[in-house]
Amino acid sequence: LSPVPSDIDIAMAQTPKAVNIVAEELGLLNSEYELYGPSKAKVSLSVLDRLKHRKDGNYVVITGITPTPLGEGKSTTCIGLVQALGAEFKKTAFACVRQPSQGPTFGIKGGAAGGGYSQVIPMDEFNLHLTGDIHAVTAANNLLAAAIEARMFHEATTVNDETLFNRLVPAKKGVRAFSPVMIKRLDKLGITKTDPDSLTLEEKRAFARLDIDKETITWQRVMDTNDRFLRKINVGLGPAEKGYTRETGFDIAVASEVMAVLALTTDLKDMRERLGKMVVASNKDGEPVTADDIGIGGALTVLMKDAIKPNLMQTLEGTPVFVHAGPFANIAHGNSSIIADRIALKLAGSNGLEGDDETGYVVTEAGFGADIGMEKFFDIKCRASGLIPDAVVLVATVKALKMHGGGPEVVAGKPISDVYSREDVELVKKGCGNLAKHVQNARKFGVRVIVAVNKFSTDTAAETDAVLNAAIEAGAAAAVVTDHWALGGAGARGLAEAVMKACRDSKAEGGQSFKFLYSLDAGIEEKIATIAKEMYGADGIELSDAAKKKVEDYTRQGFAGLPICMAKTHLSLSHDPKLKGVPTGFTVPVRDIRASVGAGFLYPLLGEMQTMPGLPTRPCFYDVDLDPETGRVVGLF
Ligand code: ADP
Repeated sequence: LSPVPSDIDIAMAQTPKAVNIVAEELGLLNSEYELYGPSKAKVSLSVLDRLKHRKDGNYVVITGITPTPLGEGKSTTCIGLVQALGAEFKKTAFACVRQPSQGPTFGIKGGAAGGGYSQVIPMDEFNLHLTGDIHAVTAANNLLAAAIEARMFHEATTVNDETLFNRLVPAKKGVRAFSPVMIKRLDKLGITKTDPDSLTLEEKRAFARLDIDKETITWQRVMDTNDRFLRKINVGLGPAEKGYTRETGFDIAVASEVMAVLALTTDLKDMRERLGKMVVASNKDGEPVTADDIGIGGALTVLMKDAIKPNLMQTLEGTPVFVHAGPFANIAHGNSSIIADRIALKLAGSNGLEGDDETGYVVTEAGFGADIGMEKFFDIKCRASGLIPDAVVLVATVKALKMHGGGPEVVAGKPISDVYSREDVELVKKGCGNLAKHVQNARKFGVRVIVAVNKFSTDTAAETDAVLNAAIEAGAAAAVVTDHWALGGAGARGLAEAVMKACRDSKAEGGQSFKFLYSLDAGIEEKIATIAKEMYGADGIELSDAAKKKVEDYTRQGFAGLPICMAKTHLSLSHDPKLKGVPTGFTVPVRDIRASVGAGFLYPLLGEMQTMPGLPTRPCFYDVDLDPETGRVVGLF
């Protein structure tokens, strides 16, 4: 329709296929999926085993130029592209996207299901509880938070080491035995005895006392609501807690390391290991204390056992979508799950035999701009998965490039300058430097880049031509204007053709040109400097004293070999959100460095990172309601 109706009106006007039909079309067996109502299903990891002989499908990552408040449309382009590949060109084409947090859904941002005629449906379910994965993350995270607090309390109030040990390893039906997770701790301590009664008092003490240094606790509580008043809280104020109070705080659920683990894990066994390895604090000797030291790795895995299965949904045009995991894009890596990508790559794969040698496409989305989401996709996610991408689709818009060229800032509540809706080719050209830098960055990984100019109705041909020329000049393999927001898959045919060609070319050379930006063997400081110089265009980095101390600590604790996950503003290539375009001549300050050992990365903080958003004066929830006549959700974007 023209004009294009609101996202939710379009989404509600389309009746989704029963999701078991989507599953059957993909060749999934009945035993390989569980229905969560008529339009969502969880897919079992056993598919990977059944299809392990298959060649993977083509693997494409969607990223964007430096984001602006005007919106670039990465999610919309991701969905538009798979609609074109699937519904127009009849390929098996999967979109793998992140599950949005409910916090921003009711707060500022709005949804992440795409927009216009390129959306995941039902978009209300997509944006709300889905199948409860975020609730599972919350449950696991908070069980661990409660366990840390309780363990410190019991250690503090039980002065006798023998009593503490006996309470931790009680006799059950007259027999005392260590549980498997306790044996992990004994291994770590180098104690090989299996009979609890045979331990010396010193060994019992070492086993029972974690001696957590409360100043070093990094584990926070989480919830999936933008509740700024929980950013700092005091716990333990009740009389039964005997004065063991502590200042701590809440993060939004998707900032939990458990979410990053979900996104980076490769199977159940790996998830168990990662959850157990999560470091929550140091002990009084400066040694890391893990979830397994607290005895909780197994219980966390049990809470996450259903969340590990990707959620199958569909686009407006009935093609398959996996919605799975949604880690923060600054303090975590901001990509959807490895497991969803892997299953999708097998389902879109081929047996490699004559008559069955055509592989389909998996298009996965990386958050924020390419300097952050794409870099982390390659250096963190692909390293963990071992998957090699065939192409990068870099989304740009004329409006955003105008802002990078010097167009006025957009201030909430003020009318948007008409610069953004009338032709100004010179301003677009000035902003294209930002696009060029991202193209060059992607080329550093040896991957083909296709620039997708996501068309807005106000763009003129002279403006979009300027972007296409700049993209090719910067080294893109192809550049296309794409109109999927207004036209659905039919509007992205050109983009789909360019992607298919890039994948053919990549497969022809066997993906050999792909390379990581840095080696894991380099020192922590060197890895950070490489990202800052190569991706952001910085002259160098400057570590605060706190950050230098962390480099020493993490190197001593054996974590220096982890990849780096920069926590940087997404609004600039630099660390300063005000600097648009292509900033130069700056040094990146590293304020602090933290570790997500279970997820498997170190994250340097380049500025204040907000891990619990607040609600604005006028939050999105004002528009949301339930139509009592139809029972339908209204007003979600
Ligand atoms: P991102 O993934 O980059 O954050 P989204 O794809 O979620 O961006 O899009 C943000 C918003 O912009 C959505 O509401 C979407 O409907 C809108 N949008 C995207 N592309 C267009 C377009 N070409 N024309 C008009 N609105 C668009």
